[in-house]
Amino acid sequence: MMTRLLNSNDQNKIQIGKRILIITILVFIVILVGSILATYFGKSCNTELDEKELTRQCKAYLCKNEDLFDIWHQSCPSTTTTVKPDTTTTPQTSDTFRLPEHIKPIHYDLEIKPYVGPKELYGDKAFSFEGQIEMEFLCAKPTNKVMFHQKELKLTLVKFKSEQDPDLKITNPNFEFDYKKDFVSAYFDRDCKENVNYSLTVKFEGVILDKLYGFYRSSFLDKQQQRHYLAVTKFEPTYARRAFPCFDEPAMKAEYTMRIIRPKTHKSYANNPLERTEPTNDPNWVVDHFNRTVPMSTYLVAYLIAEFDSKFTTTSKGIEVEVSGRPEAIQNGDGDFGLEEAAHILDFYADYFNVPYPLPKSTQTAIPDFNSGAMENWGLVTYRETSLLYNNKTDTIANKRRVSKVVSHELAHQWFGNLCTMLWWNDLWLNEGFASWVEYLGYNYTHPEWRDLDFFFVNQLSTFIQDSLESSHPISVEVNDPNEITSLFDGISYGKGASIIRMMNAFLTEYTFKRGVTNYLNKYQFSNAEQDNLWEELEKQGHADGTLDRSLSAKTIMDTWTLRKGYPVVTVIRDYTNNKMSLKQNWFLLNPNNSVQYTDEYAKYRWYIPFTFTQKENPNFDFETRPIWLKPEDLETKIDVSNSDGWIIGNLKHSGFYRVNYDTENWQRLIKQLEDDHTVIDPINRAQILDDTYNLGRAEVTDQLIFLNISKYLKNESDGLAFTAAFNGLDYINNMIESEYFVSTSYKNFYMSILETNYRRLDWNLDLDDANEINLQISTVYLMCKFGNKDCIAKSWEYYEKWVSSGQAIPANFKGIVYQTIAKFGNDSTWFQMLEIAKKTSDNTEKLRILRALTSTQNYNLLKYILSLSYDESVVRRQDMTALIADVASNFIGRRLAFDFIDQKWDDLLMKFGDISFTLANLVKNVLANMNTEFDMKNLDLFQKQHPNLGIASNAFKESLETVSLNKRWMDKYFESISQWLKNNGF
Ligand SMILES: [Zn+2]
Repeated sequence: MMTRLLNSNDQNKIQIGKRILIITILVFIVILVGSILATYFGKSCNTELDEKELTRQCKAYLCKNEDLFDIWHQSCPSTTTTVKPDTTTTPQTSDTFRLPEHIKPIHYDLEIKPYVGPKELYGDKAFSFEGQIEMEFLCAKPTNKVMFHQKELKLTLVKFKSEQDPDLKITNPNFEFDYKKDFVSAYFDRDCKENVNYSLTVKFEGVILDKLYGFYRSSFLDKQQQRHYLAVTKFEPTYARRAFPCFDEPAMKAEYTMRIIRPKTHKSYANNPLERTEPTNDPNWVVDHFNRTVPMSTYLVAYLIAEFDSKFTTTSKGIEVEVSGRPEAIQNGDGDFGLEEAAHILDFYADYFNVPYPLPKSTQTAIPDFNSGAMENWGLVTYRETSLLYNNKTDTIANKRRVSKVVSHELAHQWFGNLCTMLWWNDLWLNEGFASWVEYLGYNYTHPEWRDLDFFFVNQLSTFIQDSLESSHPISVEVNDPNEITSLFDGISYGKGASIIRMMNAFLTEYTFKRGVTNYLNKYQFSNAEQDNLWEELEKQGHADGTLDRSLSAKTIMDTWTLRKGYPVVTVIRDYTNNKMSLKQNWFLLNPNNSVQYTDEYAKYRWYIPFTFTQKENPNFDFETRPIWLKPEDLETKIDVSNSDGWIIGNLKHSGFYRVNYDTENWQRLIKQLEDDHTVIDPINRAQILDDTYNLGRAEVTDQLIFLNISKYLKNESDGLAFTAAFNGLDYINNMIESEYFVSTSYKNFYMSILETNYRRLDWNLDLDDANEINLQISTVYLMCKFGNKDCIAKSWEYYEKWVSSGQAIPANFKGIVYQTIAKFGNDSTWFQMLEIAKKTSDNTEKLRILRALTSTQNYNLLKYILSLSYDESVVRRQDMTALIADVASNFIGRRLAFDFIDQKWDDLLMKFGDISFTLANLVKNVLANMNTEFDMKNLDLFQKQHPNLGIASNAFKESLETVSLNKRWMDKYFESISQWLKNNGF
């Protein structure tokens, strides 16, 4: 085995020699082309930059405009790893990004040897890997070619064979490559025989990427400041092809037998448990053999080579659960909480859905550099450290909840996504929507005291806003190329997906929903499904149980929610003399001046709405209240209501994905009820009233002042749930008017007036034990300090001074607040004092907490400085860079500074994060969120012209443009009336 690999290394050296020559020529071409381009594209290739910078920027530009510059694109995949195809055949010109259905993979025998370390250890092989894969496949339909995926790998054919069809040969040992679609093909001398198995063995080489996807590297420092390197995979959605040749589509499931050749210093981990370890010819290296897996999709394959420690437990059903991570963290007990959560939640899901967890083990591992929160790889779940590690002395209650939430989400995927997978990425929401709903069941089981099921609705507020923009998209959309697939990982797939699943849970009842889902999982386990398959199982169960009227079809109902964007607002108009109410539905759009309102499209946007309501006289807020169905064809639905002097509330516990508006009289009655005794109304519906009035006001369906009038009741509110909804609207107004000093100051005084009761009640008390009370306390203290409350600032100073002078720890929950307050109200020397502390600490959570707090400063130059630091990877990990830039933008003084910064760095940001879901899109959305002037809009226009390639952030940018124009309209409409309202109310 070693000998074979060494031979291929020799070839590699020759290839590297050739590559250096090619690279040298290309660099010259780039500088030349770059200089020409500089003339034409101005900022894209800035001539003021030095040559190195010029090359880098132009490379980014050229690679992203591959159609224009085909020659360059040949070398775009990488300057060091890509080996040009050893073929002169013309690449395929098929217009599809999908593999043909003739060939179905059955089993991969995969061997990997990674060189996880720098040049000093491995010379030319530093951070590279070699491997061999035997792909066993079935000829499902006769064809004369086998086509699979690869990206940036060097491939060599080793052997092709079939016991049942031994004469079939591959015509040419060189593969044919289609670089645009990541396809690689080999041709047979005739068609393969239907239903016969074949196997193709290929050697491959590649680089352990310096990115946050594919097979990539990460590192950490130990107590002695020694750096330790590790290599880990992150394959969703289309990065497996960067690590080994494979049929990289979710429906092409196969089993895996893996071997990892590793240095003795490291351990290796994979989806399945380690079977045995054997020596190799080299005494420093061993080979780990892993058990054959169940059939699974390529994006769920995972392996890790690291100097990690582990702890284990066994669930009551006998599943081995492991937590692993940096030895220091594991020995310190930081993984213990996540381990216990995982063990309990795994068994809970198996019971709840009545489908066992099919693997013998489940490892949770904390990776020092990780782009998203976590990745649900089957049996080897990878997490960002802050999503798995929790220290009860130094971390906050929010950190603890996050660990529980993320573990619960990833383990939900073991069933929803891993066991039963979407057929294609257009149904990504089936994975993410399910996991985002089921996670609540999971951590509600381990922590019912957190009332997280109640908090579901307020956690989706931003999704509601995103989906009320014209630029939103349906949950289920057609996607083809990897960029489109990656852009699907957004609030719509997650938040709206989860919300409509919760809505079904309510209208079918939990009993029916659970049984329908169990049938669905059993029917499609180890296989793939589309949304129609889910509707079918739920409908059958609904009809059988009598919870869904036989005249209704689940597909007809749900297609109105998944195949079109947006959601409705139901308008309730009461006839107070005849005891009736009329219900009408409309597409809710945040933009009153939207481009569709008078079109046929608008009229067609109608939904099947499960409408529920209750009245003051006999209030009943049951989640499973039987609904009245508002159908698309009914323009108006009239209902008799009891003779009543009181109010009506629709959409109980906000179980449906829609808003409710009322006639003025009913709104007045609701406001009066909240003022007299708000506890009569369920807390979720109190949050709903706040959120609906805020958004209906923004959309100019009602006046924004209704929201402000309702908010006044909050001085008597003590439930964090209602506050979470209120903060969303109150903060929006605060952000909009911040540029107008006097009005903004009055508004802050109003805001503080509704926080004051809770500030006095909860104070900085360290003895609270209810997690929601603690959350409300943290939010209240945070806002009071931010708005300059004297008591709040004084208490922050007290904690800060004790901390810096005598090392007395600041209570974990207050650390962030204290740091932010001192950064905002302290002087330059305290600011730099904090920066030094951040630079010195080896605790990454603490470092990031301090750095993020430093963005609260009111000093323009310090904000500029922190922006430049955000780009220094010796201070800030790449995974945290964009969060820091977004924080600068959320500070009013830094808003334009952050925008200019991303403008300047755009091409580089595309290089760094252009292939990663969430990151760039979120950065764009966050940086642009609060812009609201004509000047801002012109700048955005310019930005778009200067950066024609917005890559993966295109949708987010489109959304942000709409938001900024709405913000401007909101200012024009409401600024005067809000200033007047503040005066009238004594602020
Ligand atoms: Zn997920």
